[in-house]
Amino acid sequence: MTELSPALKQATPVLAARGEGVYLYDTDDRPYLDFTAGIGVTSTGHCHPCVVEAAQRQVGTLIHGQYTTVMHQPLLALTERLGEVLPQGLDRVFYVNSGSEAVEASVRLARHATGRANIIAFQGGFHGRTMGAAALTSSGVKVRAGIGPMMGGVVFTPFPEAYRWQCTVEEAVSRALAEFDQLLVTQTSPRDTAAIIVEPVLGEGGYIPAPPAFLAGLRERADAHGILLIVDEVQTGVGRTGRFWGHDHAGIRPDILITAKGLASGFPISAIAASEELMSKAWPGSQGGTYGGNAVAAAAALATLDVVEQEGLVTNAAEQGARLAEGLRKVAADHPVIGDVRGLGLMLGNEFTRPDGTPDAATAARAHAEAAEAGLLLLTCGPHGNVVRMIPPLVVTAEQVDAALERWATAV
Ligand code: PLP
Repeated sequence: MTELSPALKQATPVLAARGEGVYLYDTDDRPYLDFTAGIGVTSTGHCHPCVVEAAQRQVGTLIHGQYTTVMHQPLLALTERLGEVLPQGLDRVFYVNSGSEAVEASVRLARHATGRANIIAFQGGFHGRTMGAAALTSSGVKVRAGIGPMMGGVVFTPFPEAYRWQCTVEEAVSRALAEFDQLLVTQTSPRDTAAIIVEPVLGEGGYIPAPPAFLAGLRERADAHGILLIVDEVQTGVGRTGRFWGHDHAGIRPDILITAKGLASGFPISAIAASEELMSKAWPGSQGGTYGGNAVAAAAALATLDVVEQEGLVTNAAEQGARLAEGLRKVAADHPVIGDVRGLGLMLGNEFTRPDGTPDAATAARAHAEAAEAGLLLLTCGPHGNVVRMIPPLVVTAEQVDAALERWATAV
């Protein structure tokens, strides 16, 4: 009998049969509040009628037209539509299928454009599992262990982690930027450095928002040295943090923006955006892939962007995120095992710690399992697996947030 690979060990015992909005239903039709959203993917909820309709229509019209061979209308329409939400000046878009592939495309572009090799990434950062993306990833030993040698030219520097460093956010920013400056002296001189890649909220690394002053500091240093700033918005983009892009909180402009996950409500499509000047430096044929910018995924992305706008989902993420954060802080106040509640918008983490401040992954795992038992699906993250995170679909309502909080309190 053929069985699934052991690598597909699942976090919950749920066998999903169907999804609707914020709910998943198992094969016995038991409903679960899905606060995982397929790891931040089903932004408009499961099977939003507009996304379903757009995809179904496209399936009956044109499923695939390989974009370096023939162009198709859904991709042109999506590109035009993205122009309404992308940062000013980032008006050239290139498509692939997943976050990791888009990360790889951004590195190729940065190396082509600058003629430099090195990339600065952050400790605790996560950029994917393909070999290049894994080389940029330092969180989750499992992603890198036993697969080396890794792609060269990557240097890591600390991300400001005020809670774990037990200091103020300002002190954490100063310390991280000082270490960054030191790195440019000791490990990678600016003339060898193509790019900095950063997540606006450290995702797999434990849901730690980048303080605006930190992103501004990176922007300054990138400008000073002709280094490109790549912002990995794979998890934070398309409204997730309560602004359209996570870096909007800092008011900076990246040189290359990476988007995936929530872009198409579950269909695999990802993109990088950059200026015309920068993108024109990618050699023709150097980027691409057979399935990149698939027509059905592009139609679903277009419908997703319409739903995000028409239903005010960015504002909803800010409002429901604030409601959820407040409720989580109340639960944490009653349960000292939760040492920190943090995040931005609908991207919130609960860090479990022992009384001496060390990570408590065992209790986090129990709370995660108890929540699933109570009908609330969650995820864990963080370098020690001790952060229970919540990333519900952006359509979540106040009633659903309250229902989730009730189940969370019971689980904890
Ligand atoms: N970048 C970030 C910030 C992510 O969170 C992820 C996935 O979680 C990736 C890249 C990789 O995306 P994918 O799993 O689609 O390859």
